[in-house]
Amino acid sequence: MTATHCPYCALQCAMEVAPTGTRGATPTITPLEFPTNRGRLCQKGWTAAEVLTTPDRLTSPLIRRDDELVPTDWDTALSFVADTLLRLRADHGPESVAVFGGGGLTNEKAYQLGRFARVALATPNIDYNGRFCMSSAAAGGRRAFGLDRGLPFPLTDLDGADAIVLVGSNPAETMPPFVTHLAGTQEGGGLIVVDPRRTPTAALTSDGRGLHLSPLPGTDLVLLLGLTQILWTEGLVDRDYLAERASGVDELRASMAAWWPERVERVTGVPVADIRRAARLLAAASPARGGRGAYVLTGRGAEQHAHGTDTVTAAVNLALCLGLPGRVGSGYGCLTGQGNGQGGREHGLKADQLPGYRSISDPAARAHVAEVWGIDPDSLPGPGLPAVALFESLATPGGPRAMLVHGANPVVSLPDVLRLTERLGALDLLVVSDFVLSETAAMADVVLPVTQWAEETGTMTNLEGRLLLRAQATEPPVGVRTELEVWSDLAERLGSPIPFSPDPAVVFDELARASAGGVADYSGFSHARLRDGEALYWPCPAPDHPGTPRVFLDRFATPDGRAVLHPVDQAPPDDALTPELPLYLVTGRVLQHYQSGAQTRRVPALADVEPEAYVELHPLLAGRLGIGAGDRVAVHSRRGSCEAVARLTEGIRLDTVFMPFHYPDAGAVNRVTNAATDPISGMPELKVAAVRLEAIRGA
Ligand code: SF4
Repeated sequence: MTATHCPYCALQCAMEVAPTGTRGATPTITPLEFPTNRGRLCQKGWTAAEVLTTPDRLTSPLIRRDDELVPTDWDTALSFVADTLLRLRADHGPESVAVFGGGGLTNEKAYQLGRFARVALATPNIDYNGRFCMSSAAAGGRRAFGLDRGLPFPLTDLDGADAIVLVGSNPAETMPPFVTHLAGTQEGGGLIVVDPRRTPTAALTSDGRGLHLSPLPGTDLVLLLGLTQILWTEGLVDRDYLAERASGVDELRASMAAWWPERVERVTGVPVADIRRAARLLAAASPARGGRGAYVLTGRGAEQHAHGTDTVTAAVNLALCLGLPGRVGSGYGCLTGQGNGQGGREHGLKADQLPGYRSISDPAARAHVAEVWGIDPDSLPGPGLPAVALFESLATPGGPRAMLVHGANPVVSLPDVLRLTERLGALDLLVVSDFVLSETAAMADVVLPVTQWAEETGTMTNLEGRLLLRAQATEPPVGVRTELEVWSDLAERLGSPIPFSPDPAVVFDELARASAGGVADYSGFSHARLRDGEALYWPCPAPDHPGTPRVFLDRFATPDGRAVLHPVDQAPPDDALTPELPLYLVTGRVLQHYQSGAQTRRVPALADVEPEAYVELHPLLAGRLGIGAGDRVAVHSRRGSCEAVARLTEGIRLDTVFMPFHYPDAGAVNRVTNAATDPISGMPELKVAAVRLEAIRGA
């Protein structure tokens, strides 16, 4: 039996994995007591071991011959990949190769993949699917606080808060054990959920236990401006806190004047009385007014917009005006989604970052990392393109002609997926590592079968910035390799100037040294400390340092230690409604599935409950459109169309429809989503698309 953590979301629930003793048999899973999950698991966690023994597991590399993927041996597969990459590099330069990673990769893999791209391949073209996930929250956090750590405090700090506002987050469905941390708000009626749908999280506010605000999609920013304006007009701002801990106060206050509540109601559709009640609930819970504490938390609903960074900034401004960040029992935070979305952006998977959460454009950071890697700083590539722009550049003149995909399934998860997938199809070489033939792997020229979560050792950084050890619990099937082994072998074949260790402990020790002095300083962490059971939060600059559960208690990570208030303004969604496209589509997750569904769609107990794409709409809207429950419906946008089964609910706005994003092919909602991106974070506007619905007659 091995204590480890769930392979899915950023809550990283603790569990024990017990192999049966028979090779190929599914291990058993038992939840463990841990501060984030308190002995609970959701359905995905309980069934996570089934993915290890899924019948369609790949156990040998595949190579495309005569348009068919056929089994081959590792030497043939890696030789072909290395030879093709070397030829492309000789003919078109190192920028002709691109790498795309995933937020589920361990810290060791995230670090090593960034190093592999920039040294073994010498390309700047690396990014990861966290760009679609938390990048706006990361940019907003850095802009205000000088540092982005999803939650800059332990999750258990939420427990005693009187009020929490969740903006665009549905943890009761996406990470159910999280709900235990809302206990304080449930007693005091201080839970405020901002969502155009009455989600399971919004339903927690019923019976007077809080407030559900249901704004028009794309107007969260205006709602946050309205809440902040009320604080100013009703004298609820914590002025002493702002004077001591923030800058930009006068500019922010001046910018608030335009956002009187009636105007906010007109834009968002949220009644003035509810906006006032929410602002007063938050203020009453704040330390300045003698409350037990309040939190402002954002999720993908607020962040996945072409103006997501500004929306997060508005949320941070609200929290600062309430005097919350940097105090025990109060604060602002982002609820990270992917298991290691946080670690991925700290160790160099993003186009603009080096390990330690350093900027790749910073000469001092480049010199430090180059020294740790043993290379000339001048040989280190500069920033690459963020994910959407990277995919748009594939197989264009001067753009990458090969891509390596590790830990991601972009053929399901990309916005405007048909257009961007076309780019993948035009490449000279697509290499995908996965444990099954995912939708992206099915397009590849070479597929490399790799180990999964419980079959290898590595670390993850959860939504609190806490480092966790995912220890190997079971033997992998014969024929698969770890990604660290793949990169080690490939680097040698490519003639890399430095070696790439396949050993996660060795890689971690180097990662720790590379991060030293950066904002995400892991230099005091080690696998050994984790095995000893220490609770370790970054930054941790020395082996005897206890780590930093709360990062902003004394100062923010800005040059003068003060948080920065940035005035932000309303911006409509990129996709405008028209008489032909009169509805807003929002997307999200269901309890049973995770991300592109590549794992959870293979678990019968989960797939049986949610087997196919559905579109949720209000019965009155359905009646107007002649759509009945269970009908097949086509959803059309400016990009394309997808299909889904109609589900009717009164818990959604009349002008809004919802689809989950876990399904491929005709059910892929990303066939209609918008690839317009936030100019600061590069986040695509996955959360708002103008659509029309049409019943498919005869279906
Ligand atoms: Fe916990 Fe998330 Fe895994 Fe569910 S998916 S068991 S909430 S870590």
